[in-house]
Amino acid sequence: MIIVLLGPPGAGKGTQADKLAQRLGMPKIATGDVLRAAVRDGTKRGREAKSYMDRGDLVPDSVILGILQDVMTSPATKKGAILDGAVRTVPQAEGLGVTLAEIGKKVDKVLLFEVDDDELVKRLSTRTVCEGCQTPYMGREPGTVCEKCGGRLVRRKDDEPEAIRNRLEVYRTQTEPVIDWYGKNKMKVLRIDADGPVDEVTARALGALGK
Ligand code: ADP
Ligand code: AMP
Repeated sequence: MIIVLLGPPGAGKGTQADKLAQRLGMPKIATGDVLRAAVRDGTKRGREAKSYMDRGDLVPDSVILGILQDVMTSPATKKGAILDGAVRTVPQAEGLGVTLAEIGKKVDKVLLFEVDDDELVKRLSTRTVCEGCQTPYMGREPGTVCEKCGGRLVRRKDDEPEAIRNRLEVYRTQTEPVIDWYGKNKMKVLRIDADGPVDEVTARALGALGK
């Protein structure tokens, strides 16, 4: 099964993708994580993406479609995947559809995590992430240690106020049209209220998936 997670930055896609991956026994694929690893490793893809990411802009569709092509044709996603933040424009949604059709697959479910803007800004401006495994944390200071891998927690450069504002604007203008696009292509978008305790949001998502 291939599940696409949509929602504004800070809605909890990464947090819920980890939970759903555990519960459903499927890998989480987060394009943001793939790109940050590429930046850290100084690859060609990383060098191309860095300035867009620091400003909170979207990296070009061609880069994302290259990543999706790589991961969706790899043995790791043979049984399915949870795609976190992986389609953020209509051309990406179209391109993912083409890539999957070529290997006899399709997007099976689309979940949209919804939270109001004040809560999003609060979450992003206090988020820390592990610089090793990229797990997001709330209420944990930079410099403390990741429970999962022992890595160091840091603040993301794009969680500065100006980049947060830009990312919310980019979401409204470039990503929200993806919701209608799936609707028009006969894919029901399952709306999840993503406010409230993490485990309750996971239960709502599993319920929407019929699990
Ligand atoms: P996204 O991947 O959608 O940008 P994250 O999963 O990184 O969002 O979550 C953003 C921040 O909000 C993180 O610090 C995370 O720990 C926190 N968070 C996630 N879900 C919740 C929730 N249900 N309530 C409060 N904070 C949350
Ligand atoms: P995220 O970790 O999902 O918040 O993504 C961090 C940043 O990576 C975004 O602000 C973009 O610059 C870039 N990014 C991640 N996924 C995509 C995507 N599907 N399309 C374009 N840019 C992306």
